[in-house]
Amino acid sequence: MGERVNPIADLRYAATVPPVPAAATRASGALHDRRGRPLRDLRISVTDRCNFRCTYCMPKELFGASYAFLPQASLLSFEEITRTARLFVAHGVHKLRLTGGEPLLRKNVEQLIAQLAALRTPEGKPLDITLTTNGSLLARKAQALKDSGLQRVTVSLDALDDAVFRRMNDVDFPVAQVLEGIHVAQRVGLAPIKINMVVKKGTNDHEIVPLARHVREHFGPGVVLRFIEYMDVGASNGWRMDEVLPSAEVVARLDRAFGLQPLAAHTLGETAKRHAYRDGGGEIGVISSVTQAFCGDCNRARLSTEGKLFLCLFANQGHDLRALLRGQRDGRPYTDEDIAAAIGLVWAQREDRYSELRTQQTPAAQPGQPRVEMHYIGG
Ligand code: SAM
Ligand code: SF4
Ligand code: SF4
Repeated sequence: MGERVNPIADLRYAATVPPVPAAATRASGALHDRRGRPLRDLRISVTDRCNFRCTYCMPKELFGASYAFLPQASLLSFEEITRTARLFVAHGVHKLRLTGGEPLLRKNVEQLIAQLAALRTPEGKPLDITLTTNGSLLARKAQALKDSGLQRVTVSLDALDDAVFRRMNDVDFPVAQVLEGIHVAQRVGLAPIKINMVVKKGTNDHEIVPLARHVREHFGPGVVLRFIEYMDVGASNGWRMDEVLPSAEVVARLDRAFGLQPLAAHTLGETAKRHAYRDGGGEIGVISSVTQAFCGDCNRARLSTEGKLFLCLFANQGHDLRALLRGQRDGRPYTDEDIAAAIGLVWAQREDRYSELRTQQTPAAQPGQPRVEMHYIGG
């Protein structure tokens, strides 16, 4: 391991070091978990820090000046992230999403994107690389992101009304700058652009129709607005079921306002259910993580900023890949084959399906084993 790390921040989430099989076999690209689900999508958190304090994700009272974010030495380097991503690609991953915290806060993130963009699937195809951002730095960075090889971007935007938006990000950030970021992203050719709105009943659900209207009128069909049900991620947002507005209600409201018709899914494992505007004005998506679980074909793995692998957004136990990336066996560093085999074993044993098992009453996190927080593992 070598490097000194802050034990408090580093040990916040439990993780075990995955066993490395004695004889490693080559990754086949056709790995499946215990429920027959392949591994296709890797979400990489590049920082646990954020310049927003969204009330549902990093409430100010808990993420204040005294909060211990991960120290620099804990973070995976760009080389470590790229190596890990390459091993996941050999196992069948073809989509990478950079997230956080706020990924655009990670210094020189464009260099990481350039390294990831050079990876190829076993069939020689480029990967689908995207990034989820709060949009605050997008106007400034969109061109550099595009130049580094990023294809598309997802921007989180919870309200069109400036006062509501400022209240939800809780750092008084103006909505106009995020809208400007989306315009610049569109201009430099990042496409398709998706906008994600987390809907919290009683907080911003009155913004659904105005935001949809704004996107239709100002961005056009190239920008897809998606509505996410407010989830019980982590343990710090004080989630309550009665603050969830079911996606069916979102669709009903948009149907009344504009007229919608359902669309077929593009791919297996797609999280959003798609609907087209009847007038040809583009489409919207709804992500019903609470009311309609989609664990059955969940093909996503998540890599935390300091190299812990989580197999479910709601997991309370990670798998410490950094220990392998920086560790040794019999006096020699682990090889790519060793680490790929360890990842293969971990995925093969996966059984997670939290959303399917979720009940109206959120089970309390185990003492000493808090569920991972969204700012730490990304969306
Ligand atoms: N900071 C970036 C952003 O906000 O886009 C990337 C990280 S953020 C954790 C990723 C996504 O998770 C965002 O779209 C955010 O709205 C969503 N999110 C965070 N907490 C959530 C919750 N409790 N329920 C549903 N979505 C949530
Ligand atoms: Fe930051 Fe994104 Fe979480 Fe908001 S949702 S606090 S922008 S990480
Ligand atoms: Fe995948 Fe876990 Fe979400 Fe189910 S709850 S869809 S297994 S991340």
